[in-house]
Amino acid sequence: MSLDFDRKDCFVVDGKLALPYTYFAGRMGSKFITTLRDEKKIMGVKCPVCNKVYVPPRQTCEIDMTDIRENWVELRNTGEVTNFTVIRYDDKHLPRKAPFILALVKLDGADSPFAHILEGIVPEEVTLGMRVEAVFAKATTSTILDIDHFEPARVSKVQVSEPAPRAQEHAAVPKSKEELDQDERRKAMSKKIIITAALAGAATMKNQNPAVPYSPQEFADDAYKCWKAGAAMVHVHAREDSGMATHDHGRIKDTHDAIREKCPDLIVNMSSAVGMGKTAEQRISQIIHVKPEMASLNTNTMNFSLVDRKSGKVFIDFVFENTFTMLQDFGKAMEEAGVKPEMELYDMGGLDNWALIAKQGFFTRPFNFNFVWGVAGGQAFRPDAFMTMKHALPEGANFTTCGVGTDQFPAITMSSLAGGHMRVGLEDNIRIPTGELAKGSYEQVEWAVKIAQIAGREVATPDEARAIMGLRKR
Ligand SMILES: [Zn+2]
Repeated sequence: MSLDFDRKDCFVVDGKLALPYTYFAGRMGSKFITTLRDEKKIMGVKCPVCNKVYVPPRQTCEIDMTDIRENWVELRNTGEVTNFTVIRYDDKHLPRKAPFILALVKLDGADSPFAHILEGIVPEEVTLGMRVEAVFAKATTSTILDIDHFEPARVSKVQVSEPAPRAQEHAAVPKSKEELDQDERRKAMSKKIIITAALAGAATMKNQNPAVPYSPQEFADDAYKCWKAGAAMVHVHAREDSGMATHDHGRIKDTHDAIREKCPDLIVNMSSAVGMGKTAEQRISQIIHVKPEMASLNTNTMNFSLVDRKSGKVFIDFVFENTFTMLQDFGKAMEEAGVKPEMELYDMGGLDNWALIAKQGFFTRPFNFNFVWGVAGGQAFRPDAFMTMKHALPEGANFTTCGVGTDQFPAITMSSLAGGHMRVGLEDNIRIPTGELAKGSYEQVEWAVKIAQIAGREVATPDEARAIMGLRKR
């Protein structure tokens, strides 16, 4: 029996079909989602030709059509808002009840933004460029909502007050010294702060702190933790498996490359001191061989010894040789190789030495200096000496600071207040400020981030550090 559709007694039943279905998220989408779910890592892909980083990942670079599917990079959980809208209607497929903010977030290190929910702020206060960080969901849904939402980053932008209109009207009146100082302080405070982690140095051994890296893999793992904690740069002295500092080109390149492979975003700064008893040739040739983005350049010949702080007893007596010729030859070789020198100042004399050689004109701006405190043979940290050194720097120069042992944290605190940058790491100090052994250089980076917050400084990403220091990304 069939229905007669011409008959008026046909009737229509409204109904719904439940149609569950599955689909393949794609090769790129699958890895993106599973890594997010299983490791709480946000992954992108980087084009090896034009260096563009895509998040979410894709197979082909839109600029040059390069196949980029194998070139995975991990992104930080922080980024900035590039645009946003407010969803003001409710719909059951939407992830939140209206109203909620949908923002385009460009993660640090990525070049493409993606849309996600922004919470913890009212729409009126959202600004373009504001810093945000991902908050991961407590339970997984195997979707992009494993990032539950973004919220304003804990380290917020520095609040530098605008000059009042009345002050502008009187702009013709010369500023007092106090006002100029205030301007200078504001300018300094508004700069981002770069955190460097000196992972090992030449002398810190595992028997002092087992977290000191020796192998390329250990360096890479350590660098990764520091990068996650907020470091923009690592400073590296490569080691043999025995822990001895090495000038071997292969080992140094392996160490450098292992770090670059694990954290392509991070800046690697290598030592041109290497370790005790290395020749000038051994010290500079490895830099030119590996060509890191930055390398240390030491500015004076000095005692560099191991002296017991309590008893004054000399354990190891050593003269660190850095003649004028070495300063000149190392500096020239670095500049010619596109390796930005970081001038190490152990005292004011080092700055004067550098200024003499700089008259030859081969050092390129911006100049980057590092004040080193507490070396037995250099000078101990003193706030007055710090400011004297700062004021003696050439116009527009950048400065960072590090300190040996208990000088480390006071010196970096001073630098964060004075508009400089910070270096921590097991090379300089094996402990955290509580006196306990650091679990790794990354734990000191975490402290440095807190200090930056207290000082009202925002932590620089590696690319921001490159812009500040004038580095060429590799
Ligand atoms: Zn490309």
